[in-house]
This record gives sequence, structure tokens and C-alpha cells, in this order.
Amino acid sequence: MQLIMESSKPHVAIISSPGMGHVIPCLELAKCLVSYHDVEVSFFVPSTEASVQQTQLLESLVVPEDLHIIKLPPVDISNIVPINNEIVARLTLIVQESLPDVRSEILKSPRPPTVLISDMFSTHAFEIADDFKMAKYLFCTFSATVLAYMMYTPKLAQETNIDSQEIPESLNVPGCKPVLVQDLGGRDRLFHLNGGKVQSVFGHIYNYAKASAILVNTFEDLEPQTLQGLSDDNVRWTIPMPPLYPVGPIIKSAESPSIGKSDYYLAWLDNQPSGSVLFISFGSGGTLSADQTNELALGLELSKQRFLWVVRPPQDFTPAAYISAVGGVNDPSEYLPDGFLTRTSGIGLVIPNWVSQIDVLNHGSIGAFLSHCGWNSILESLVNGVPLLTWPLYAEQHWNAMMLTQDFGVAVQLAKASEEGVVGRERIERAVRLVMEEEEGKVLRNRAKELKSSAIKTMGKDGSSYGSLSKLVKKWNEIS
Ligand code: UDP
Ligand code: UDP
Repeated sequence: MQLIMESSKPHVAIISSPGMGHVIPCLELAKCLVSYHDVEVSFFVPSTEASVQQTQLLESLVVPEDLHIIKLPPVDISNIVPINNEIVARLTLIVQESLPDVRSEILKSPRPPTVLISDMFSTHAFEIADDFKMAKYLFCTFSATVLAYMMYTPKLAQETNIDSQEIPESLNVPGCKPVLVQDLGGRDRLFHLNGGKVQSVFGHIYNYAKASAILVNTFEDLEPQTLQGLSDDNVRWTIPMPPLYPVGPIIKSAESPSIGKSDYYLAWLDNQPSGSVLFISFGSGGTLSADQTNELALGLELSKQRFLWVVRPPQDFTPAAYISAVGGVNDPSEYLPDGFLTRTSGIGLVIPNWVSQIDVLNHGSIGAFLSHCGWNSILESLVNGVPLLTWPLYAEQHWNAMMLTQDFGVAVQLAKASEEGVVGRERIERAVRLVMEEEEGKVLRNRAKELKSSAIKTMGKDGSSYGSLSKLVKKWNEIS
């Protein structure tokens, strides 16, 4: 305690919203600041509706001295929001209801934090920053491109009537290539512009504009034009655009203690030839319909490629399923095609619910990744030089999938944003073979390797992302 009192290093509070896609990058940012930038961090995370994985992640953590993990006590939101309400509204409410606990923790602190970093959906914590005169920052756990789009939506809302069908056919977001709304899956799939969703996301977008700066989990070589466009003083945004600091890729490292590290699937991978296995995963909460799960299984079988598939029981998404993810019994033989597990035994491995994805992607026998295109998954794939097959499901994943194929050149499009219905087994077979066996796969792999080396360089001491974080820490030193 004495040491903390005397310390002059900046003390930063990071507030994460629930869900592994948020907690993982926020926690990694915290670790990065503590380990490489001599910062003290208090990391606040709601325990409301925490998934099994989230709880295990926090429990298995080896915490460095200057990182304080504060699990906020559970809050009851059942009277405020119906159980099946949409995800962003729900995350927002959980964070909002947890704010009194954040406040009392800060009041108790012998050396209160002077900087507050919120993630994309915990920006209501900015009111605490104002009360305690802390500097406000945003950690964008999405790409710069999606951030650009989000900052553009107030203008879009001004120019069009979101509740009617008057969304333009193409979007011209500063810094981004013009994009056809149809390529993003049409009006209804356009990022959260449906139902009541736009309202809950808008509250956050207006808060983004109040941040002193935005830390973005990307790097200059990955999104050069967008980063430039977003920082261009001549571009007029409807709401103020804070300065941007590309600080990524901030991802889990394969060496860190992780869930299921000693698991049998890593031993299975050890026995497969280099670059021979397709990894299939739909993030922390993605599921497919029963028909689609069936076609995917049969497509994989037809392709005759080795695979490691993380499976969940087919079901419609529900926010509760997303957050509490995958409790309960999951027996893949109950929903995979008859005989599939026996016929593919030795070639494929089916893992229920969860693997330590970073350890899998880091394994030399992985040749490609069929992904739902969550931003964390994409960064993890790129850092390991693994090309992708895109299968976006919801939220901003359609945009990410498009970037992977059109801008980064590291992926083959498998499922399209604009189509309805089931993706057939033949198309799955062709796409899998293309990446695993053919010349095009080699081209994608080489491009992925290029991005891998720039990702590693940018996080090194002379790299631009490392430099961005150093600049921020210098500012924080001045105010601490
Ligand atoms: N993840 C994992 N094992 C799994 C599924 C997901 O370790 O079986 C991790 C993955 O490595 C990533 C995060 O959970 O860090 C998912 O984040 P992403 O942004 O890719 O997708 P989301 O789950 O938010 O849709
Ligand atoms: N969903 C989810 N996790 C998220 C966002 C959405 O599980 O991070 C679920 C959500 O509850 C909804 C389903 O995905 O039932 C389909 O979302 P939709 O395509 O309507 O969302 P959008 O793409 O417009 O965000």
C-alpha cells in the first residue's frame, strides 16, 4: 500500500462491458500498459451474466502487481429490460447499473485513477470521469473502418429517415471506399440500424466524440487510408472526431495462461502436418441453424481436408445465449449428421463449445481459419499469418468480412452478407479446397504472412502502435 501511495506512475481505470469479445481486448490493453509502459491499471469488469469462459479467464489470470482486477458485483436488470432484449441495450444497462460500484471503488482508492478508458459499450462511465475530473478515452475494439462508419451514422441519420426505408444505396464514409449497402447485407443488416438498436448505439456514438482521444485496436499498415481519412482535418464530421491512436493489434498472447491450454486438441494438432488443418469457429457466441450446421458438416466432409471445428448446438441467437454463452451439456452427435463423427474420425476433430483460440491459431498445423469475422478473431488470425474464409453472422462482422477480402486480401468469401438461406455443401467444399489446396490459398497465405510481420513490427519498441501508446502514456504522466 505504501508503495502505491508513493508511486508517480499514471493510474488508469479501464471499464469493460461484459462478453469475451470485449473483456479479452480490454484486459490485454491493461496488461500491455502495465507490462510495457509502466502504468498502474484498475480494470473494472461486470460479473453480471458472466460466461463460464469469462469467469475462468479472470480466475486463471496471473496478475502483475500494478494491475488491479475489480469484478463488479452482479446487478439485477430483470425489471428494467426483458431477457431477450437486444444485446447492446443489455450490455449498456449492465454497465450503467454497475456504475455506483465503480464510483465507490474509486472513492476507496488511496491513489484514485486520473484517466478513464471505456470500451465501445461502457461509455456511460464517462459521467464518473467527469465527476472525478479524470481524462476520458475510448478503446475502440472494432476496426478503424467500422469506427468511421459509426461516427458517420449521426450524419446519415440527419440526412435520411432511419425509420423509413430511405437508406441510400451506397455509403461514402470519409476515409473508406464507397460501399454498397447491399454488400453489407442490405438496410436491415446495416450495423445496428434496425429495430430499437440504433437508439442504444447512438448514445455511445455521441459519447465517443467526448473522448480526449480514441485508442483503436488496429495498425497503420492494416488500414492506412481509413486512419488517414479519419484524422484528416478537412473532413467535416457531424460530431467532433477525437484524435486517433492506432495501438493494435492488442490480442492475447499464446504463451499467456489460457483456458484449456493443456487440452487434447492441441496434442491432436501436434500430430497433423504443417499448415494442413482448417480451424472453424464462430466466436464467443455465434451459432448456425440446424440446416446450416448440417450443410457445413457435409461440406467439410466432401472437401476431404483436415479440420478442427468448435461446435455449438444449433439455435437462434438470444442475447442471454450470447452473454452466458455455452453452459449446459453439448453433445455434437445429437445434432451433427448421422455417422459424420465416425466418418471424419482421424481427419477432423469436433470440440464442443470452446477452445483456446489463440493457442490453436498459433499452432503450425493450422492452414486457414473459417471465421465469423469478429475483430478479435481477425487480428488473432493475422498475427499468426493465417488466411481466412469469411462467414459473418451479425453486428459489424459483415463489414469486417468485406474488408478481409477486398482491402486486406487475406480471405476467401464463403457466406455473403446479402443472401438469405442456407449455404450449400458444394460451395463450402469448393471454398475450403480453394484455400487449403490451390494456388489462391498460397497467395492468401503469403499476404497473411506479410501482415503478420507488420503486425509484429508495429508492436515492437520502434513500431508505430507501440509509439502511439507511449505518446498517450506521456500525456497521462503529465496529468497524474
Ligand atoms: N474465443 C476463444 N475460443 C473460442 C471462441 C472465442 O478463445 O472457442 C476468443 C477469441 O480468441 C477472441 C474472442 O473470444 O479473442 C472473440 O472475440 P471476437 O471479436 O472474435 O468475436 P465475438 O465473440 O465478440 O463475436
Ligand atoms: N447478437 C449476438 N451478439 C452480438 C450482436 C447480436 O448474439 O454481439 C444476436 C442478436 O441478439 C440477434 C442476432 O444476433 O438476435 C442477429 O442479429 P442481427 O443480425 O439482427 O443484428 P445486427 O446484424 O443488425 O447487429
